[in-house]
Amino acid sequence: MVAVRSLSKWFGGIHAVDDVSLDIARGTITGLIGPNGAGKSTLFNVIAGLYAPTSGSVLLDGEDVTGLAPHELFERGLLRTFQLAREFASLPVRENLMMVPHGQPGENLVDAWFRSGRVAAREAELRAKADEVLDFLTLSHLADERAQNLSGGQKKLLELGRTMMVDAKVVFLDEVGAGVNRTLLATIADAIRRLHAERGYTFCVIEHDMDFIARLCDPVIVMAEGAVLAEGRAEEIMANDAVIEAYLGTGSRHAKLDAEAAR
Ligand code: ADP
Ligand code: MG
Repeated sequence: MVAVRSLSKWFGGIHAVDDVSLDIARGTITGLIGPNGAGKSTLFNVIAGLYAPTSGSVLLDGEDVTGLAPHELFERGLLRTFQLAREFASLPVRENLMMVPHGQPGENLVDAWFRSGRVAAREAELRAKADEVLDFLTLSHLADERAQNLSGGQKKLLELGRTMMVDAKVVFLDEVGAGVNRTLLATIADAIRRLHAERGYTFCVIEHDMDFIARLCDPVIVMAEGAVLAEGRAEEIMANDAVIEAYLGTGSRHAKLDAEAAR
């Protein structure tokens, strides 16, 4: 579904992404792991159109989409999780979701102004959709809460919810579990699994929690120092000496134990 070909992104002398080729197959939940500074986020940012690559290309369903703007990729169904935008922080959770299909909040207002005749129906439709998403994410009780009052984990769920307001095909989640408690992490994993199973979403997930990755992702791709180090099933990856060396370092014994636990 997404093919990355000989992709590089350099920041001056830093080769953040260095000649990476990989595939995210349709219908997978692909994990992307690696130590801090490995280039994972930069890779996501190039794929999602935030950065132009230094060289190389990104294909979506066989079409070259290198250098397209984020909103153009968004229209083609390629989404990455949004940081919760500041201007939405004081808005209720439900309204945050209702903003998404039009992209920019400003556009939504212009649209409302000029096509006021259609607004009521459109708003009711968006509201119903938002409520369905909140129900799916077990956030219904927070619909009228300001987004800024959510916990870190609830904000992550809301980010995931934003991808559900449009017909996403492939969703990139960057550290979806960071700062999230165990219970919410399980809820996030459930939501990802259900979106995958029920709506056919393809995912690529960056996450440091190996347990989360092992339970959710197949395959798992490992990056280190801007390059792809290994790819395989989670238990193969976690038993791979090169991966343990590069990625886990002194935590290797735990990783091996985790890999055994996952079997
Ligand atoms: P990861 O997400 O795997 O932790 P990043 O992609 O964030 O890694 O970073 C990879 C490397 O690129 C790091 O050395 C980082 O400091 C550098 N880097 C990332 N973004 C920028 C930027 N905007 N400007 C300069 N260097 C950057
Ligand atoms: Mg990162």
